[in-house]
Amino acid sequence: MPNKIIIVSNRLPVRVSKSNNAISIQPSIGGLATGLKHIHEKNPCIWIGWPGISLEEVSWSERRYIEENLAERSLYPVFLSSEDIENYYYGFCNSTIWPLFHYFPEKARFEERFWHAYQRVNELYLNAVLEVYRDGDIIWVHDYHLMLLPLLLRQKLGNDAPIGFFLHIPFPSSEVFKLMPWRLEILRGILGADLVGFHTYGYVRHFLSAVRRLLGFENKLGRIFIEDRVVLVDAFPMGIDFESFVSLLSDNEVRRKIEEYKLSFQGLKVILSVDRLDYTKGIPQRLLAYERFLSKYPEYIGKVVLVLLVSPSRIGVKEYAELKRCIDELVGRINGRFSTLDWSPILYVYKFTPLQDLLALYVVSDVALITPLYDGMNLVSKEYVAAKEGGDGVLILSEGAGASSELVEALIVNPNNI
Ligand code: UDP
Repeated sequence: MPNKIIIVSNRLPVRVSKSNNAISIQPSIGGLATGLKHIHEKNPCIWIGWPGISLEEVSWSERRYIEENLAERSLYPVFLSSEDIENYYYGFCNSTIWPLFHYFPEKARFEERFWHAYQRVNELYLNAVLEVYRDGDIIWVHDYHLMLLPLLLRQKLGNDAPIGFFLHIPFPSSEVFKLMPWRLEILRGILGADLVGFHTYGYVRHFLSAVRRLLGFENKLGRIFIEDRVVLVDAFPMGIDFESFVSLLSDNEVRRKIEEYKLSFQGLKVILSVDRLDYTKGIPQRLLAYERFLSKYPEYIGKVVLVLLVSPSRIGVKEYAELKRCIDELVGRINGRFSTLDWSPILYVYKFTPLQDLLALYVVSDVALITPLYDGMNLVSKEYVAAKEGGDGVLILSEGAGASSELVEALIVNPNNI
């Protein structure tokens, strides 16, 4: 096998689950899986990540079966114990870094046991990379779950191993980042890479100033000189695979759904909203804005519909359950207030929407209302634009989404301004 790319991310692009003693393997969702899938399919590549099932849920023979099945797809699983899932994944990743890096410091929990689990799990990923790495391979580490891994790899593999790191979420202002008790370890961890990428120049700037202010390393045009190494930091905004995305538009099933939706939304202007359930996505603010719109412009009553697609995420976390309740209540209130016997202002779907349905909805909707409070990039906004072959449709996009620094012809809004 020629030199390969080793992609390392918390999750694999598939999710393994077990029900009635049967193992099943399904594609997983999210911007990272969508963005890297094609690189993985089109290059000599192996992808290392957690398959989404805990160590305790599978027997030895099931584990072997999963490993063999994934190996055929060039995937290499890292199994996590339920304790690691609790303290590393739900703990440090999603209760410490996620809120802090999205400017919710009041939600960030700084707990020693989370930090210890984060260190331990980064070492598990290190061992997995060492299993598959051969001289000449390129290692590409992804996202906030694995910020210690570049340095761990550097210490094991020396200066010749090419290591990249890409952060898929915002890198916050250094004033916010420095609230983190383990800020130096995190910065040093990332700087183990040769190339550090972010979605926007804003995030690059924040990172460089954190490195300068907390570690004292200056940079020249994004190049940081550390002892005998140079680390290059730059913006590489993630896109979608336009060709394969657009070719799906001529898929028979998608065409059938487009006709079906056109019929069911006949006579209505369709406003589309698509998110994973997350407090960073600004869904309640968006609903309040839609409510204000209907009360300020009653002439639109009966003529417009908001298709609100919310895909379940981080189920079982209290914060997310509360957000779900808040959205349910707002939708109920707005529908109760404005509905007529033959029309409702919001069509609310709380489940994962398959890509074919999503595509058909992109095509038939007049407006995409995408207003996260903070979002590393936001691929949905790019997919919406890509699906608009005729050039019609309006994208209303939050300035808090990384995509807003590229899609400057959208109507850019402040999501807090109801
Ligand atoms: N997505 C999907 N079905 C859904 C919700 C989202 O297929 O019900 C896909 C969507 O098409 C996009 C990705 O998941 O490719 C979401 O990426 P984005 O960057 O917008 O947000 P993230 O979930 O990574 O925060």
